[in-house]
Amino acid sequence: MTSCPRIATASPGLELSRVVAGMWRMGEWGMNVEQRIALIEQCLELGVTSFDHADIYGSYGVEGLFGEALRARPALRERMQLVSKCGIKLVAPQRPDHTIKSYDTSAAHIIASAEESLRQLNTDRLELLLIHRPDPLMDFDEVAGAFTRLRKDGKVLHFGVSNFSRHQFECLNRRFPLATNQVEFSPLHVAPMYDETFDGLQDLGVPPMVWSPLGGGRLFDSSDANAEELRLVIKEISDELGRPFASVVFAWIMALPCKPIPITGSGRVEAIALAAQATQFALSRTDWFRILRAARQDDIA
Ligand code: NAP
Repeated sequence: MTSCPRIATASPGLELSRVVAGMWRMGEWGMNVEQRIALIEQCLELGVTSFDHADIYGSYGVEGLFGEALRARPALRERMQLVSKCGIKLVAPQRPDHTIKSYDTSAAHIIASAEESLRQLNTDRLELLLIHRPDPLMDFDEVAGAFTRLRKDGKVLHFGVSNFSRHQFECLNRRFPLATNQVEFSPLHVAPMYDETFDGLQDLGVPPMVWSPLGGGRLFDSSDANAEELRLVIKEISDELGRPFASVVFAWIMALPCKPIPITGSGRVEAIALAAQATQFALSRTDWFRILRAARQDDIA
């Protein structure tokens, strides 16, 4: 069985698995607690030891589902890294005081949200906490202050952001050294290669985390012309190399010099294993560009 290697983030002392298991959709997987424990154990056996959460996943429910599994098998906790996020306020029955969807990056909200994530996940610390989205009312100094406080109290060990532009990342990173910027990237969404996000992170030695690496599943089933063309090209390469389709996509993502850390979205361990397998081979430059050309509809100057 493939064992997934580890990768250092930009925050000293924080390593994640080269492929991270995303838990956003866990509420849809319909698993009982034993099935959730089995999935976590299978990920750990694959070397996929980092799990990506957010307070809001499953309408504020997923952290609790995962925490229930950790309560039943406490020994699993020491074998993993827990990532969570804060800063989005959803309208949900669990949060009757939220009357509209909004963002909140005040120190009070960041600290309260992290403490609630600890309760839900049944743990005493998060390895990594991310600000989920840039907030127009975000005060960089106040966010850095909240991070400093959470680290001093031992509640969160490392910090980062998600969906930040290069400039937003650098503004906060100057005040508090960040581990990562978690952004959307896939052959169906190549913007971070062209809007300076990836160049800026490579320059600072910060590996991005990448969400929706398979376009949220659209690479497999969308009838959009771009998705169909990509599917054809990736399938050709997959057949030529004798590598599974999804592994080719993960290898394409991980080939970038900024060292993206893809986050899987599936609840099937076989699909997570396909991502781990992509750490075992590299695409040729020609094959890499065949996929980029399909992604850009041949628009390469
Ligand atoms: P994704 O891997 O692009 O999409 C997952 C979807 O693809 C699932 O519906 C899955 O179905 C399907 N799929 C995966 N492998 C497949 C295969 N081999 N064949 C057919 N279908 C396959 O990732 P995502 O779920 O959109 O995002 C991944 C993670 O990123 C999330 O869990 C979350 O942790 C994180 N995220 C972060 C943000 C952010 O703003 N920071 C936003 C979105 C997501 P099956 O379940 O049936 O395999």
